Amino acid sequence: MQNPFKDLNQKDSDCVVEKVFAAQVDLLYDQLPIAVIGSLAVVSCVAFMLAGLVSSTMLIVWYFVFIVVTLVRCWLLMRYRHEQKRDYQYWVGIYTVSAFLGGCLVGVMPIIATDAPIETQSFVLFVIAGLCAGGLSTHASMVKVFTAFLIPATVAPGIWFFYQNDQYHLVSGMVLLLFALLMVRSCRNYADTLENALKLQFSNEILNTHLAEARDAAETAYEAKSVFLSSMSHELRTPMSAILGFAQLVEDEDDSLNKEQSEYMSQIRKAGWHLLDLINGILDFAKQEADKMEIFPTHVRLGDAVDECVKIVSPIAKQSGITLKDNASSCDVEVVVDYMRMKQVILNLLSNGIKYNRDGGSVTLESPEIRDGFCYLAITDTGIGLTPQQMSDIFLPFNRVAGHDSKIEGTGIGLNITSNLLELMGGRIGVESKEGEGSTFWVEVPLAEQPKK
Ligand code: ADP
Repeated sequence: MQNPFKDLNQKDSDCVVEKVFAAQVDLLYDQLPIAVIGSLAVVSCVAFMLAGLVSSTMLIVWYFVFIVVTLVRCWLLMRYRHEQKRDYQYWVGIYTVSAFLGGCLVGVMPIIATDAPIETQSFVLFVIAGLCAGGLSTHASMVKVFTAFLIPATVAPGIWFFYQNDQYHLVSGMVLLLFALLMVRSCRNYADTLENALKLQFSNEILNTHLAEARDAAETAYEAKSVFLSSMSHELRTPMSAILGFAQLVEDEDDSLNKEQSEYMSQIRKAGWHLLDLINGILDFAKQEADKMEIFPTHVRLGDAVDECVKIVSPIAKQSGITLKDNASSCDVEVVVDYMRMKQVILNLLSNGIKYNRDGGSVTLESPEIRDGFCYLAITDTGIGLTPQQMSDIFLPFNRVAGHDSKIEGTGIGLNITSNLLELMGGRIGVESKEGEGSTFWVEVPLAEQPKK
């Protein structure tokens, strides 16, 4: 059987034990109205049946005591329901005493019926069995309470029967005692199953509370991290822009620099741009994580965005010995995208095509195609390519393909941001590639309007 306490510490286990006990007592009192009404109806029938057959004084006293006990049980139930802070041990004690008294009153029935005909005595035995079975369903959440009812209700008349010295009573007594044993066994099984189910339920509740607390704490920490990252990125960007601006100024306008110094300045500027790139990537990523990435879609001529990007990357391609073929900037298709973000997407794909290429390779911007309300733009390179496994991993944040030249500058977040940007703009990205032969990265963005047929 599953151990309900396996994931709990001592304090939580104690708490579960307390809750289970309280639930068991609640169940007892919840069942009390049924027990009271049922036994009142049955005992009244028995009293009616025995009237005239047995000593009326005994019958009246017995029935009167039964009514008093019943009223006391009703009063206890009302008090229990009204009590706010319950001492459950006390209430179990009281219940056990009332169950014992109820059992005694049931147990004396055969003694009162001794003078009645044998059929009536058999009926009384049948009634005792019925009341015990009913008691099993109402008292079974606690074995000791049921036993407190069962022993006087069956063992007492059983012993009385043995002393009657005739076959009918002897057999009846044995049957009654056997029945009592079976009842205790059933009650134990039921109570154990119930207790275990309650333990599991309360353990799960506590674990769920801990889980929710841990999730809240993690969310708060995550949010704080995103806010910190985004504000830090802002702080870093401002001085970086100044460093870059002044490095460019010195490089362009300071004629007193010798060749070596000019080279140093150029290195400072390149490293600065790389750093700024990183900072921008982190800023975008932080915004993305905090769900604060904003998109302002407008009608854009895709060719214009492509043209600007081609102009930016052409010098880099030339420097890297890569041929850039542009079949897309002449395209007149209008799409609905955020212009700056669309440029960021194209630039990322073009610069990756150049970075992850081979000497003398090429990057081609294919002529855009129109497909089902979307414009499809593909960028093909003749570079190092990707395996199927690598293709599924490269869109994850900070994922750089192991085995690709680690000297190639990059952070591994470009494609993740690109794919998220496209999703925000209602588009998507995909890749087809063959290791060693090259890759085609394609994007689809929504068309401004359906082309006229
Ligand atoms: P970065 O280029 O800054 O590392 P990206 O997110 O843009 O980050 O790319 C993730 C990884 O995907 C890269 O590190 C590279 O290994 C692989 N990759 C991207 N584009 C290409 C490409 N055109 N050809 C081969 N591998 C690529």
